[in-house]
Amino acid sequence: MWWNNVETKPGTGYPTKWEDQEIYKGGWEKEKGSDITLKGAGKLRGLLNIFHNPHLPVIDDYYEPFTYKYLDLIESPTRDDQPTARPVSLITGKPMDIKMGPNWDDDLSGTPDYARQDPNLKNLSPAEQEAMFQLQRMAFFYLPRICNHCLNPACVASCPSGAIYKRGEDGIVLINQKVCRAWRMCVTACPYKKTYFNWGTGKSEKCILCYPRLEAGHAPACMHSCVGRIRYLGVMLYDADEIKGAASDLENDTDLINRQFQILLDPFDDSVIKAAKENGVPDSTIKAAQDSPVYKFVKEWTLALPLHPEFRTLPMLFYVPPLLPVMASLSQADHKEHSEKMDPIAKFWDSDWLYDTSTEELWGAIDQARFPLKYMASLFSAGDEEKIKDILKKLMAVRIYRRWNTVGDFSEEKVHTILKDVGLLPETADDIYYLTSLAKFDDRFVIPASHREQAIEMLEFAGDTQGSVGFGFKEKPLRGW
Ligand code: SF4
Ligand code: SF4
Repeated sequence: MWWNNVETKPGTGYPTKWEDQEIYKGGWEKEKGSDITLKGAGKLRGLLNIFHNPHLPVIDDYYEPFTYKYLDLIESPTRDDQPTARPVSLITGKPMDIKMGPNWDDDLSGTPDYARQDPNLKNLSPAEQEAMFQLQRMAFFYLPRICNHCLNPACVASCPSGAIYKRGEDGIVLINQKVCRAWRMCVTACPYKKTYFNWGTGKSEKCILCYPRLEAGHAPACMHSCVGRIRYLGVMLYDADEIKGAASDLENDTDLINRQFQILLDPFDDSVIKAAKENGVPDSTIKAAQDSPVYKFVKEWTLALPLHPEFRTLPMLFYVPPLLPVMASLSQADHKEHSEKMDPIAKFWDSDWLYDTSTEELWGAIDQARFPLKYMASLFSAGDEEKIKDILKKLMAVRIYRRWNTVGDFSEEKVHTILKDVGLLPETADDIYYLTSLAKFDDRFVIPASHREQAIEMLEFAGDTQGSVGFGFKEKPLRGW
């Protein structure tokens, strides 16, 4: 079980093809004119699938855990051929032929079975798909995934035992290990496949957003240790009364992001501050919301988008779409004149392509990006290409602004036109540059320590019963290790 994994995109991910809800039936669905319902869980569906749930991922979708018989390397008797360490299943102990593993398709290293099976490619025409996989145009990026601690979590809604809950004080979604009765409805219902069933303990588990660390004002372990410094964490104030409407009112998936962003409140607005105080939100939390890097990325600069908003869980992790593949593009070119001038012994590739890194045709490059906008839109904006384009333009404008600042090979007038084009002030571009490139630890993580007097369950100390697995149980599970 990988509570936290990083996938290569395009790719099928973990568990394989988790985004394809025709297979897994995760998330919410909305029929025209009616309320939203769970796609593959809920009372009736749960009852029908009580003895066999066809939508659960099976072991091969995750991968069968394995190890190697390393001892064979040193304990084999002397013989003519070299000993090898054969792979054996960690479940059966029998030799196995490994076909799949965690990060099997990293960096597009897998066979076409992986990248070409990415569910996000289904909106692209065969020609567009083919273009993505031409060797010269090939590009990939990484998608880090943990539980999104959603505002409208399908996992919580699906649990027949009421074992999953979203904490009122900080929004973290947790599974009460004492109450979980192994129905595994949450595994079906989570469209991100971020709850996992632990066959050892007979309980479901998921990312806990390192809540014991958060309560003490520390960053979660994966965010703290991220060497790429790509993770940020901060407080977002939201209007809880609007959650149901934001997830269910709209027929059109592409409008869901706007609606979700509407319920994320401005922490500088006097009426929001007043309402927050009346609802018992501590001053330290309001101050943290004002300094929140997440608020800046999501609301102030609109640079970050939720993953697959069309699943309607209102995920609270946001991603800045990757810019790199659009900084260079391949264009048709005639190299004949140039080749005639070259020394005949010089190596010359007789092709009609130009690897163009110029930024002259600035916005045009975004349209011809090696990652088609359609693909990015399928991941981050429920198909709305304009949203992706706006973000990439802003990111590109900041780069050009900084290049003018440091290298100076753009005219000031051009740079200001570019910034104006995307609606950025030079000061905002400086702020974006700072937070994305230079930010210190305290800028990336603005976490108010918990007010213990307001969170009774935090007083429960699990350390006394913490065993060898998971995050500690008040009562040790009867099954398992
Ligand atoms: S991402 Fe997390 S909070 Fe959202 S539905 Fe899945 S398990 Fe629940
Ligand atoms: S937040 Fe904590 S529990 Fe969640 S994936 Fe990161 S390290 Fe694991």
